[in-house]
Amino acid sequence: MSISIPPHRFFPYLKWTDVAAMKNQGDVVIIQPIGAIEQHGPHLPLIVDGAIATAVLAYALNQLPAEIPAYALPTLYYGKSNEHLHFPGTISLSSHTLMMLLMEIGESLYRSGFRKWILMNAHGGQPQIMELVARDLHIAHSDFLIFPLFVWRVPNLSHELLTEKEQELGIHAGDGETSLMLSILPDHVSMEKAIAEYPQDLPTNSCLSMEGQLPFAWATRDLSRSGTLGDPTTATRDKGDRILESLGRGWMQVIHDVHQFRQPNA
Ligand SMILES: [Zn+2]
Repeated sequence: MSISIPPHRFFPYLKWTDVAAMKNQGDVVIIQPIGAIEQHGPHLPLIVDGAIATAVLAYALNQLPAEIPAYALPTLYYGKSNEHLHFPGTISLSSHTLMMLLMEIGESLYRSGFRKWILMNAHGGQPQIMELVARDLHIAHSDFLIFPLFVWRVPNLSHELLTEKEQELGIHAGDGETSLMLSILPDHVSMEKAIAEYPQDLPTNSCLSMEGQLPFAWATRDLSRSGTLGDPTTATRDKGDRILESLGRGWMQVIHDVHQFRQPNA
C-alpha cells in the first residue's frame, strides 16, 4: 500500500506493560478498521473496503498531533458480505459471527482498561451490525463509549469530484472506490477491465429505493451482472489522492473529537 499505519500507533506492537502504564487510559482512542473480502467488479480486487479503511486511518494517524493518544487495531478484513455471495471470491461471515467477534474484541478492550472505541467501517453492507454492537456494549458497560462510524460519512471531496448520478447510484466499485484504489493500490487495479453498469429497473414513482430512507432488500446480482454499481471508467489517481486526503483529514478530526468526547449526563 502507498500509505501505512505508523508503527508507534499500531496496537499489536505495544507490550502489555505499555498498556498497563498508560495515563488517562479512559481517553485513549482505540480504532478498529473494518472491511470485507468481496467482489468489486472485474477491475478491482476483493480487498477494496479493508484497503480503504486502512489507508484512510493511516493518513489520519500520520497527521494526528502527538499529544492525542490513539492506536489502530489490526484491520478486520472479513465482514458480512452475503449480498455479494453469488460472485465467486466473496467470503462472508454471518451477522451473528461478526457481531460476536466485535463484541468479544470490545470486551477485551474494556477488560484492559480502555473506554473509547471507534468501529471504523468501510463496507456498506454492515453498518447496522456496528450500531448493534456499540449499543449492546454500552448497555453492558455504561462507561464504555463506542462509536459505530462509516468511513465515507466524514466531510470529503467525493461530493465535489463525483457526478450526482455517481453519488446516488455509484455505490460499489464505481468512480469513488476505483479512484481511491488507484491512489492506494494502483498495481491491483485493472482499468482496461472497468465497465460502467448502473442498476436497472429501479422503482420509479415509488417511495421505495435501493439505498434511500425507505429501502428494499437486494442482492447485488439483482442489480448488476458485472458486480459493479456505478461508473469506474472515469476514475483517476488524482481524484483518488484528493479524496483520500480529504477523508484522512476528516478522520483526524473524528479521532480528535472522540478523544475530547464526554458522555452526556456522566
Ligand atoms: Zn466497497
